[in-house]
Order: sequence, then C-alpha cells, then structure tokens
Amino acid sequence: MIDYKLFTIGPAQMYASTLEIRSHVVPYFRTAEFSQVMLDNAKLLKKLEGAEENAEVIVLTASGSGAMEATVTNCFDCHDKLLVICGGTFGERFVKICEIHGFPHEVIYLGEDEELKGEHLERFADGGFTGLLVNIDETYTGQLYDLHMISEFCKREGMYLIVDAISSFLCDPYEAAANYVDATIVSSQKGLCLAPGLSLVTLSPRMVNRLNKIDPHSLYFDFKDYILNMKRGQTPFTPAVGVCFELNDMLHKIDRQGLDKRLSEVKARCDYFRGLLNELPVHIPSFPLSNAITPVRFEKEIAKEFFEYLKNEKHVMVNPVGGELGKRSIRVSHVGSLALDDYDMLVREMKEFFGI
Ligand SMILES: *Cc1c(COP(=O)(O)O)cnc(C)c1O
Repeated sequence: MIDYKLFTIGPAQMYASTLEIRSHVVPYFRTAEFSQVMLDNAKLLKKLEGAEENAEVIVLTASGSGAMEATVTNCFDCHDKLLVICGGTFGERFVKICEIHGFPHEVIYLGEDEELKGEHLERFADGGFTGLLVNIDETYTGQLYDLHMISEFCKREGMYLIVDAISSFLCDPYEAAANYVDATIVSSQKGLCLAPGLSLVTLSPRMVNRLNKIDPHSLYFDFKDYILNMKRGQTPFTPAVGVCFELNDMLHKIDRQGLDKRLSEVKARCDYFRGLLNELPVHIPSFPLSNAITPVRFEKEIAKEFFEYLKNEKHVMVNPVGGELGKRSIRVSHVGSLALDDYDMLVREMKEFFGI
C-alpha cells in the first residue's frame, strides 16, 4: 500500500496520534469505560461547535450524506416546507433528499461563481417555510456562505436552521448557539482528520423537542433512540468504535491547543498556499472561500491530467472536482498534518507540470 501525501479533504492527512490509536485493538464497547469516552466526546464537541450545553449529540455510524438524510427525515416531514441553498453537488444532495422523501421544498440555485447574497433569501420571505438546509461550505466550489446572514433570515422567518458544516467545522469560525442553529452536521474524515465512518449531529434544545412530533420511519436512523441511549454514553447499534477513540484524542488535542489556535493553523496554510498561486497561470473564484479548501482553476482543461500526474508520478493527492467544472479545476485542502513547506512542494510540482 502506497503512503500518499494528502492535500484532500476527506480523508485528510492524519496526525501521528491518530495513526497511533489506529494501531491498537478495537475494544468491546458496552462498558462503563467506553460510555465515559462517548459522554466526553459529546461534551467537547458541543464546546467546539459553540452549541448549547443542553444540546444533544447524535453519534451515527454513517458517512456525511447518511447524516444529512437522517437529519432531514428526523427533523421534518411532509407537512413542512423547506428552503434549500444549492450552489453545487452537496446542495443538490439536500435537494435530492427532499425529493426522495416527498418533502415540499424550494431551491435557491446559484450559478457558477455566483455569491449567495441577502437578496437571494429575501425573495423567499413570508413564504411559509419551516426550515432551511445549507452546506455552510459548499465543498464543490469552496464557497463559504454567510452564516450570520442566513441565521438572521431564519430567525426573522421563524424557520429551523439545519447546517451541514461537514467541511467547514474546525476550518472556519463556527458558533452554533449564537447563530440559532438547530442541527449541525459534521463528519470524522474532514476537519477532524480521522478515519471515515462517524458522523455527528448536534441538535438544539428546541429541535430536540420537535423530534417527538416527527416519525422518521426508520429503524437505524431514529434520533430519539440515539438520544435515549446517549444519556448513558451509548448508541443503539455498534458504532465505529475505533473512530470514537480517535475522536476523543482529537477533541482533547484541539481543546488543549485552543480552538482559535487550530483555526489559525488551518488559515495560515490556506493563506500561504493562495499567496503562492500568484506565480502560476491559475485563478481562484472571487466569492468568499472557506479556509478548508482552495479551488484552483486552470486556464485549460488539464485538471484530470494534472491529478493523475501528481497521484501516479509523485504519490501526492489533491481533490479532483466532478462534473463540467472538473475539467479545469482541482481543490487543495488545508486540513490535516501538513506543513507550509508541503505547499512549497506542491507548487514546485505544479510549476514542473506547467513547464515554468
Ligand atoms: C464531504 C461532505 C459531505 C459528506 O460526504 P460523504 O461522502 O457522504 O461523507 C457532505 N457535505 C459536505 C459539504 C461535504 O463536504
């Protein structure tokens, strides 16, 4: 198996302490010791998300999309009316979920390179909407939406606010309670830099109350069952036990270090790399960007070729982009155990590829 250098978000370049934990036997989990780890995870996660102390954390063994679907089907039903912000493939995923489950919804579609503005939301004011779904960093394009603006709109309209913060958490500042967020979704393999498999949904107290009125028609994805089990630090079904230990290590690492310090580390890598791009025949979009990832646009349709060259010749991975945009765009992540000189190396490889 080749050890690649990962400039990808999900999985990301893991930290040494995570790799060390992964080398141990995964223990049996219906124990008081494991319950303590889980309760500790929930407490620290809420702290780092800026969630209410009495918010509930749902620990799902599923990738982020599973958590997105579970959140929509546990928080809403066909009597709701949802507004979805769709600026890329992750927004489309929320739209798809609404369609499959037959939940009434309207969509704010953003064009390529279009920035989400207050006026997009205002068009839907007084529209009888009960909830809003947003991927706060639309990872497909890298656009970071204005959480404060969205949250003020939802508050005024009396809408529940669901935030997929999967790629933004631990990369951009995030305050759940201060922004009246009712559900925050994160996943193990993104900013946390852990193995894939675990997703975490944090619910505001008012959303927890609402769950009683909704029947998700699901055995595995019934949040009420998870909340009941979590009272004693357990999950209804076998969780990704190993990842729960990796999570505990990472949450403590960030808590010890301080969240601001972690965020500024990611931002420093991000700013450093974006600065280096000035020397290359590429550009980055002008809308507000998450610190998680830099979308790099080439002038020609060479993105696929560049991705393969880096992977095969250099054992370096960047994030390819799907769809039409993917022909001339790659994304470079700034999470994980990466140093500034890793970006020097990447830019050197880009120059070599371009022959400059
Ligand atoms: C990665 C990601 C997801 C989840 O994708 P999975 O492959 O299901 O883990 C969801 N939303 C956003 C914004 C993401 O970046």
